[in-house]
Amino acid sequence: MTDDCRRVALVSGGSRGIGRATVLRLAREGFDTSFCYRSDASAAREVVGLATELGARCLAVPADVAEGDSVRAWLAETEEKLGPVEVAVTCAGVIRDQPLVMMTDQQWHSVLATNLTGVFEVCRATVFAMMKRRRGSVITLSSVAGVHGNPSQTNYSASKAGIIGFSKALAKEAGRYGVRVNTVAPGLIDTDMIHEMPEAAREKLLSAVPLGRFGRADEVADLIAYLASDRAAYVTASVFEIHGGITL
Ligand code: NAP
Repeated sequence: MTDDCRRVALVSGGSRGIGRATVLRLAREGFDTSFCYRSDASAAREVVGLATELGARCLAVPADVAEGDSVRAWLAETEEKLGPVEVAVTCAGVIRDQPLVMMTDQQWHSVLATNLTGVFEVCRATVFAMMKRRRGSVITLSSVAGVHGNPSQTNYSASKAGIIGFSKALAKEAGRYGVRVNTVAPGLIDTDMIHEMPEAAREKLLSAVPLGRFGRADEVADLIAYLASDRAAYVTASVFEIHGGITL
């Protein structure tokens, strides 16, 4: 494949976890990828190295998804160095767990800013150009907590439920312009994020998984790669749960 016909994917939060697995999976599918991260530059460099070994061009840019200017600068650099973006995947996310009665303003606002405003900023920056080219696929990351709710995660659950409504509305706005928007809602996936939870809470959640194990980031990335591809050409405005059968 020549550089001229390679497709470009943008992945927020691509330095670790599900985002990292997505960058590498899309690289294997023939995409050039540009990902952002917040602070972990050495993790980002490692992902660039691995994607490059897979034959993809890969760009890592420090950008805070909650800041519109930061996201627009990331996109401008991506378009300049790799070309127009066809696929956008919003993986950047954080947890700040606390029962509601003890939740601080900072815990509430920081989770909503990264998880929900971050999706708004990435989509606002990328979707108009996709609509003009009549081609695009957006994949947003929600969570089973956004579908079913999870104790000590009112902030996180609200942000992840908001992503589902946001994505369905955007799918209806953009569908006639050839842009698909779908949401992936994982359960317990073995990344740094779930190791931020207290061990007791994590083990309690694991005991509610009929398949009896955590999911792997590459299993979620497989689903994301399907939604990014033309195999999913008639799939939009949908939410895909991937959780080993967990019942919250
Ligand atoms: P993770 O391992 O903690 O990685 C989070 C990634 O997001 C990192 O690359 C991080 O960059 C980046 N990030 C965080 N805040 C950012 C910001 N403000 N701007 C830009 N990048 C930022 O998380 P994960 O487990 O892979 O989760 C990925 C997505 O899946 C999240 O949206 C999460 O809510 C969702 N999800 C995860 C699970 C799970 O069990 N793991 C379950 C359901 C849903 P730095 O490394 O630089 O901080």
